[in-house]
Amino acid sequence: MQRPLADAYGRVATDLRVSLTDRCNLRCSYCMPAEGLDWLPHPEVLTDDEVVRLITIGVRRLGIREVRFTGGEPLIRRGLVDIVRRTRALGDDLELSVTTNALGLERNAQALAQAGLDRVNISLDTLDPERFHTITRRDRLDDVLRGAKAAHNAGLTPVKINAVLLRGVNDDDACDLLAWAVEHEYELRFIEQMPLDAQHDWHREQMVTAEEIFAKLAQRFTLTPAREPRGSAPAELFLVDGGPATVGVIASVTRPFCGDCDRVRLTADGQVRNCLFAREESDLRAAMRAGASDDELADRWVAAMATKLPGHGINDPTFLQPDRPMSAIGG
Ligand code: SAM
Repeated sequence: MQRPLADAYGRVATDLRVSLTDRCNLRCSYCMPAEGLDWLPHPEVLTDDEVVRLITIGVRRLGIREVRFTGGEPLIRRGLVDIVRRTRALGDDLELSVTTNALGLERNAQALAQAGLDRVNISLDTLDPERFHTITRRDRLDDVLRGAKAAHNAGLTPVKINAVLLRGVNDDDACDLLAWAVEHEYELRFIEQMPLDAQHDWHREQMVTAEEIFAKLAQRFTLTPAREPRGSAPAELFLVDGGPATVGVIASVTRPFCGDCDRVRLTADGQVRNCLFAREESDLRAAMRAGASDDELADRWVAAMATKLPGHGINDPTFLQPDRPMSAIGG
């Protein structure tokens, strides 16, 4: 029997974000420090079988329709292709995607497509090699570009590109990124920087807002709203110069969309989080390893969703950043 992952405000989660590792091979300055973080000890990370068991419970019992694999960097998880294949076996109508920095995607794109992955979201904040190095602290821009191309060629489409603009670093890259994305038939989305960095360095006045992004893009492009209503999608979508190309802006801070949220997250160590900004988690790993049945795990998951707050609270004076940074939650 299916039960919805409903909360007290009438929202139902159908979109599961699964973090497969908290480790990453880039060191984006707005995400983590140069030296990296204290990674989860290996025994705490869910095994492939445990991940697939929890996804199966989500899909078969709790109405999950969409699964997005993320991290950390999901491509460094050895079992990724197999996890995708086993998830696809749960249903042809499931939407399966990966959020990745695309390092190594050139090698894996075909296998991921064959395993049943529908598409990828690739993170790329600039096309300038020096700026790329400044932001990510690695010299890998070419790998990302080749990864995006391979994903497109493998049919993992639409290839979506996620970009975060940082004031004084890449905030004048917006138009170049969009021109490049349109040329390559990638769908670009700008994401407002959120207070989820491990260093707790986020400052509201440093954040490049959606308003500023629109103003920058208007210097070179004409944007018109692309869809009404927007539904549960985080991105506000616009046609670029009349279409068919589109660009999205995810204004989590200045135009929150929590009222339409349909997402739930599972961390690499098996904790259910009902919100990116939740300060509480529900430990499915401990329950699973203590012998809980699928019914019992589903009960815990349902209970965890029931306590979802109405909003992320970033704009409240009492806002407290969650203990885990984005990389450990799964972006
Ligand atoms: N490693 C994968 C990647 O690069 O896409 C998946 C994990 S990464 C944490 C997911 C997304 O979160 C990336 O697009 C990254 O730019 C974004 N991100 C990280 N920290 C962020 C922050 N503080 N605010 C907004 N987006 C952030």
